[in-house]
Amino acid sequence: MATRSIEAVVTPRPPHYVGDGFRVHNFIPSDQRLNMIRMDPFIMLDYNARFYFPPSEKPRGVGVHPHRGFETVTIAYAGKVAHHDSSGGGGVIGEGDVQWMTAASGVLHKEYHEEQFSKEGGDFQMVQLWVNLPAKHKMDPPGYQGIKASDMGRHTLHDGAGEVEVIAGDFRGTAGPAKTFSPLHMQHARLNAGGEVEFEFPAHFNTALLVIEGSVQVNDRNADASQFVLMANNGERFTIRATEKSVVLVLSGEPLREPIAAHGPFVMNSREELIQAFEDFNTGKFGYLED
Ligand code: MN
Repeated sequence: MATRSIEAVVTPRPPHYVGDGFRVHNFIPSDQRLNMIRMDPFIMLDYNARFYFPPSEKPRGVGVHPHRGFETVTIAYAGKVAHHDSSGGGGVIGEGDVQWMTAASGVLHKEYHEEQFSKEGGDFQMVQLWVNLPAKHKMDPPGYQGIKASDMGRHTLHDGAGEVEVIAGDFRGTAGPAKTFSPLHMQHARLNAGGEVEFEFPAHFNTALLVIEGSVQVNDRNADASQFVLMANNGERFTIRATEKSVVLVLSGEPLREPIAAHGPFVMNSREELIQAFEDFNTGKFGYLED
């Protein structure tokens, strides 16, 4: 087993707003080194680093919009977010919870700060990932998994190093609750100061880390909070060592290696399918959702 080296440590670019409720740093795909293909099947990652939103009577967020051809995964670290979609899926997620929305053939949805959280204001910290679907599942019926913190797989590390929390995939036999359409791992290394953990994924799985809290050494390289560490595909194993109490999001997935035709909220395999998506959206085939 070879060591997987580091391809890049990426410092966040200036944030931008998605709607008025998500102040995000984009890591995939707008960074030139991290285009949609490089982290296949993870085709987008927006990170709302911890940010205080003052009280608001009107919940901040993103209004009704469509998606087709992939999944949106929202991980909440602080604050509460509500989701409703045209297939009847929906719910509120808070600290430690994950919302796994399979748009597949198409949904309309809206994503807002939860009402009470909006009224009180507070710290908000979220990741949103777009996970591509294999061509054969792009037109499946939509789905929704609301995953609570208490549902996660948990593997306690030796010597008080901390734990690995498994959302999807598995870590040393501990499986995560999320159902996925292709082999992928989505996990948190929650490490105490000085804690160390080794991960091992097949070399061809595209792999990256996002430091959510604290600061760590990945192999021998430092990575601080809000930095994104893109791992090379030249080995299986790498080590994360926490220099202080830290949380690191670990992503690793088998590339789909299928053509991508993407525009805005649609991610398909061909231009024809993309045109069809716009046509179906414009003729009301994505259903109805009240604003
Ligand atoms: Mn959306």
